[in-house]
Amino acid sequence: MTTKHKGGKSAVGPGNHLFHDVLIIGSGAAGLSLALRLPGHLRVAVLAKRELAETNTFYAQGGISAVLDESDSVDAHVADTLDAGSGLCDATVVRLVVAAGPSNIRWLLEQGVQFTRSEQGSPGIYHLTREGGHSHRRVIHAADATGRAVETTLEGEARARPNIELFERHIAVDLITASKLGAHQNRCLGAYVLSIADHRVRTFQARFVVLATGGSSKVYLFTTNPDVATGDGIAMSWRAGCRVANMEFIQFHPTCLYHPQAKSFLITEALRGEGARLLRPDGSRFMPGFDERAELAPRDIVARAMDHEMKRLGAECVYLDISHKPAEFIREHFPTVYSRCLDFGIDITRQPIPVVPAAHYTCGGVVGDHDAQTDVPGLYAIGETAYTGLHGANRMASNSLLECLVYSERAAEHIARCDAVVPRPAPPPPWDESRVTDSDEEVVVSHNWDELRRFMWDYVGIVRSNKRLERAKRRVDMLRYEIREYYSSFRVTNDLLELRNLVEVADLIIRSAQHRRESRGLHYTLDFPKPDDAFQRKPTILIPDSYSPRSD
Ligand SMILES: Cc1cc2nc3c(=O)[nH]c(=O)nc-3n(C[C@H](O)[C@H](O)[C@H](O)COP(=O)(O)OP(=O)(O)OC[C@H]3O[C@@H](n4cnc5c(N)ncnc54)[C@H](O)[C@@H]3O)c2cc1C
Repeated sequence: MTTKHKGGKSAVGPGNHLFHDVLIIGSGAAGLSLALRLPGHLRVAVLAKRELAETNTFYAQGGISAVLDESDSVDAHVADTLDAGSGLCDATVVRLVVAAGPSNIRWLLEQGVQFTRSEQGSPGIYHLTREGGHSHRRVIHAADATGRAVETTLEGEARARPNIELFERHIAVDLITASKLGAHQNRCLGAYVLSIADHRVRTFQARFVVLATGGSSKVYLFTTNPDVATGDGIAMSWRAGCRVANMEFIQFHPTCLYHPQAKSFLITEALRGEGARLLRPDGSRFMPGFDERAELAPRDIVARAMDHEMKRLGAECVYLDISHKPAEFIREHFPTVYSRCLDFGIDITRQPIPVVPAAHYTCGGVVGDHDAQTDVPGLYAIGETAYTGLHGANRMASNSLLECLVYSERAAEHIARCDAVVPRPAPPPPWDESRVTDSDEEVVVSHNWDELRRFMWDYVGIVRSNKRLERAKRRVDMLRYEIREYYSSFRVTNDLLELRNLVEVADLIIRSAQHRRESRGLHYTLDFPKPDDAFQRKPTILIPDSYSPRSD
């Protein structure tokens, strides 16, 4: 925390201090599932930076993996996940998550999620697809807009619950911890939260605090994620004394629509599954030269090949072409992709789609145990913001929504077990703005924001090297210094808070990448192009200065 929190000079109006039993920061699949699973007598607050549904969850297209077919098995799903994770998954966690898959899908069905059903005469009630890395059909989905179905259903349920209060356009600034306030025994006491509507920072006090803030892919110039994915939970927990793990493992999705007005639209890999080809700007195909599986090679190989061709040719993008398939087939199988591209004047039944690889998923995050507890008592981390050990060095498609569901259930059960023994703590001091003014140099924020995302893309992206990482580290150190100074002088704004967190996360990614002197899973470096057994089964764990091990 900064000096802004000391002194307590601003008045504590009745609306400035709020108390809930559970404060959930984030309204995606992880946050909303947790809110719905907590006992009804607990008063729950859910925060969202924008509108409730503006989450990574909403944009998920493919589906959710779970063992739902008789020919499939937990063992097979476990084996596939371990294989994708390249020797860095926690095998206990993988089994725990996979085994809980079917019951979590049942829970979603009970909430009212409408998954796509099997065609008449086909086995099973629900249609299951097969995605990269999965040895069986086990991805349950709602056409090509699964996330939308999940998010809107959970939102509807949450809005109907009297014990859940939803705070849209409320941004958590920092966590409040007892140790930072001088107490002997540490505990998370809540968070300072900026309300966009009136620009006031309020104290949200709670007995239990849960980070469900999603990933950090906005740290890169190109991303499939919406604007909210700025790694706030990872940065806040790091400042609060939590360990963070495996941040070097960023998954890049090969095909994000490249168009000046399309901020982040993913073109599902099912297009490649159905025969779409990747082309250079001159129309020639390049994937067969990189891998015998061509366009069907794993995501990281396809992304690396695209990056190579774009850098070699100085091209801004490459092209994905499915126009050789019948127009009716394309419209029927890919309605979302078809209509979204048409919005930008691209008719995919007749034209190739301009695409770039883009940061897609943050495999690392806040270290949590099997109950989602972090290093700070009373603070939990669930969903993409957490590091559980499930994904290892590479996330298998559709395992992430599953992880959100399973850990929301485990956190809810743990909070319910602890409910009776955790009293309401004394109120923390209010936010102090007595020594800051309004900024007269917003350009510092916008300039640094662009610079950060550009150098992360160029130096810490799909292909890394020692030199590139050193360059990035020098720049991020300078930015951290500038932003720290700016932050302690000026009133907080949405953009400043996000930039402050992005810089923190960038630093964690660079340091983790420098630590891993090998190539494994999603981390590829020209200086150590092969895996090294010395790093096998060793996650990269970074420890903040303020870390102290839990005593319970
Ligand atoms: C385009 C796309 C397609 C995908 N497809 C699939 C798929 O098919 N299957 C699959 O399993 N996974 C998929 N994923 C990944 C998956 O969607 C995410 O990992 C998952 O939805 C993350 O859920 P979450 O609840 O952890 O976070 P999110 O859904 O991202 O929600 C984060 C929430 O935190 C809030 N927040 C963040 N910071 C703050 C703050 N400081 N203060 C207050 N609130 C804050 C945000 O406003 C938001 O409400 C996809 C991702 C993308 C982007």
